[in-house]
Amino acid sequence: MLEQYLRRLQERLTDYAAYEACLRLPPYKGLRVNTLKLTAEEFAALSPFALEPVPWEGAGFYIEEERPGRSAYHDAGLFYVQEPSAMCAVPLLDVQPGERVLDLCAAPGGKGTQLAQAMQGQGILVLNEKIPARAKILLQNVERMGIVNAVVTCADPASLEERFAGYFDKVLVDAPCSGEGMLRKEPEAAANWSPENVSMCAARQKKLLDSAARMVCEGGRLVYSTCTFAEEEDEENVSDFLRRHPDFRLLQQRKIWPHRERGEGHFAALFERTAGAGRLRLRPGKERAERAAVASFSSFAMDFFVRPPAGRMLSFGETLCLVPEELFSLDGLRVLRAGLALGCARAGRFEPAHALALAARREDLRAVASFSEEEIAPYLRGEELPCAVRGWCAVAVNGYPLGLGKGSGNVLKNHYPKGLRR
Ligand code: SAM
Repeated sequence: MLEQYLRRLQERLTDYAAYEACLRLPPYKGLRVNTLKLTAEEFAALSPFALEPVPWEGAGFYIEEERPGRSAYHDAGLFYVQEPSAMCAVPLLDVQPGERVLDLCAAPGGKGTQLAQAMQGQGILVLNEKIPARAKILLQNVERMGIVNAVVTCADPASLEERFAGYFDKVLVDAPCSGEGMLRKEPEAAANWSPENVSMCAARQKKLLDSAARMVCEGGRLVYSTCTFAEEEDEENVSDFLRRHPDFRLLQQRKIWPHRERGEGHFAALFERTAGAGRLRLRPGKERAERAAVASFSSFAMDFFVRPPAGRMLSFGETLCLVPEELFSLDGLRVLRAGLALGCARAGRFEPAHALALAARREDLRAVASFSEEEIAPYLRGEELPCAVRGWCAVAVNGYPLGLGKGSGNVLKNHYPKGLRR
């Protein structure tokens, strides 16, 4: 299949030799600093890896490190491992705090968490992923990055159209594609490549774009991105979209090639909706917070926080969540999480959620047990640590919370989620 792909590209590219030569080089690697937790400068001061800025994303850096995810700072959500080119799409949307933003194909969450950084915790971010197992991974990344204003859903994009027609200021469609731009990073993409798969992807992307278009409000922006070079999926889909949607205009389009710029293959197009539905309001939900759970959280929060998080709360089953003020009704939606999980009230006691520690800053916490990178290793394996704290506390690496523990006065019981342990 690789040969057929290369032959096709040879016919289309004037600088094909340079492209082919670069296929023998290692792929670019990168990370994005989580500016919800610290600045790029602060991260640079404690980074275990050498960092070199990515030109199109202020918090993005090239790295050489093969396994950056091994650092405890990754568990603390200080950065997201993201291929440098993949960082180019979100800045096009120019997302502002307080907006309503949708990422229609969001797992595992690279671009969705980048959107969250631009929102700074304000407004509503809907992160949707159609495939349930992938939606769970998305939620884990949302929690790790300390995002408080996201609603993580698991839905077929077409099923969202009606409900959210004209609702969002910004929509991202990072579509499933034939992956031609990822051949150096994911060699299996070459094995799966075929002209039929390119056509199938192109047809699916058209439908995704149609669904997305309906959900953008007038004056709103839509970004369409892929990690492929196939014109059928990129430029031709853009022209086709414009033909079928005269209420949109193209503002910008870019394609990154690994032999021309420093990144793997990526394509992004930015559209603006010039006519159509206004910025529509949605019915607020009838969901409420259980009073007993709120009271239980309040008494827990007095010991745990200097400044407890406040705002609109809702109960989802046993879990109490802090949700965005203008949260819409979730009736009939498959929702994995709305807002920040605070925890559960059980038998009169409040059990905090792992996500609560990850969304907190050290200065807001009363109870923190902080360890060095070396000392924290046993905690990440699920072991107990010596510690003088009594009761619930956030466990931190050099002051950055990454989980919870419960101290007896000399040992700290480990509450790091089993699924995340090393
Ligand atoms: N935006 C993500 C990020 O930055 O981490 C990557 C998204 S990936 C390119 C495309 C996603 O679309 C995958 O998570 C995949 O599971 C999902 N997907 C697969 N088939 C789909 C379909 N028919 N409709 C919508 N999404 C689909």
